[in-house]
Amino acid sequence: MTSEILDQKDLKNSKVFGQLSFDNHEQIVFCNDEDTGLKAIIGIHNTTLGPALGGTRMWQYKNEWEALNDVLRLSRGMTYKSAISGLNLGGGKAVIIGDAKTQKNDNLMRRFAEFVHSLSGKYITAEDVGMETRDMDIMRKITPHVTGVSESIGGSGNPSPVTAYGVYMGMKAASKHKLGTDKLEGKKILVQGIGHVGEALVKYITDEGAEVILNDINESRLEELSKKYNAKVALGNDVYELDIDIYAPCALGATLNDKTINQLNAKVIAGAANNQLENEIRHGKLLKDKGIAYAPDFLINAGGIINVYAEVSGYGKEEIMKRTENIYDTTLDIFYLAQKENITPHRAAFDIAQSRINKRKKELNK
Ligand code: NAD
Repeated sequence: MTSEILDQKDLKNSKVFGQLSFDNHEQIVFCNDEDTGLKAIIGIHNTTLGPALGGTRMWQYKNEWEALNDVLRLSRGMTYKSAISGLNLGGGKAVIIGDAKTQKNDNLMRRFAEFVHSLSGKYITAEDVGMETRDMDIMRKITPHVTGVSESIGGSGNPSPVTAYGVYMGMKAASKHKLGTDKLEGKKILVQGIGHVGEALVKYITDEGAEVILNDINESRLEELSKKYNAKVALGNDVYELDIDIYAPCALGATLNDKTINQLNAKVIAGAANNQLENEIRHGKLLKDKGIAYAPDFLINAGGIINVYAEVSGYGKEEIMKRTENIYDTTLDIFYLAQKENITPHRAAFDIAQSRINKRKKELNK
């Protein structure tokens, strides 16, 4: 009989620790409640720099493995996002399996809050796709380990406008690097996903005189915003071949893959979506080879986490905007470093974040 303890080779082939997206995550919590129908997964990737803070996403996943894969990727992304942004936070994220429009209710949110509370602050939640400030307010009644609550109860409010401001800063820096100017006037920009962040970004760039093209699966929203911002509309999924200067992915992740990169005409990519590169190494390199300047997602979409961090650290609105504006300089530094070292910008940002984590780990082990 073989040993009952798995060796490293077995672990790599196993269905849980061997998941493609498993990257030495510290803890994964499966939350199940029969009464409310809650099925959620909390992923805690790394807590070296502080408690694992990251939003909760509610999404109708095709199956549970897809949800697990998403939470693994998203929580890991949060570790590097907070590290590169200089925040004393670790990386975590949660997903609730279901349709936020039809399956979300107050009881489900309260039950989920109890699960978050059971982790005693090791994981702190916030909003993500499918969540509203109101949901965070409901959770706050059950647990203090929730951020992004309403300003009326001491929170930092909706983080999306701050996220959009950071993306706008990152886009300007990427444009300066690649196109020689950070002025977006006259630039053709495709914004894919015009939800909370996408719309706020559309406002910044139309105010600056960019020629904006909107894409979303929600056609009524497309109609509403195209009128509001006098923007063009591109329908369907086949938007990558459009004649554009900048592509801003603000919907879901993995839109940069073998197929789309081959089609892309944009010279710059800067958007809010998490995990835009389907495969960080392969697709980061493909973009580099094609001469497309890709502003790392986890760097430029950090405005939201900077905003909610205020609730943990106690700093004010002015400091939030200053730190978010700083994304412009950091993005330029990253492009400079990537060029100097002949690596992808994603790698350059990742290395800086990792070295901050390693340094802290050493201090803690002293
Ligand atoms: P949201 O749910 O408000 O908006 C998402 C929009 O994308 C919706 O309008 C939806 O209809 C659209 N969409 C979904 N699938 C699409 C597809 N295949 N093609 C085109 N459009 C599609 O979400 P949000 O809060 O605006 O966040 C957008 C992205 O930014 C997400 O990936 C999120 O994880 C990331 N992000 C958000 C924040 C934040 O502060 N809200 C912070 C960091 C990262």
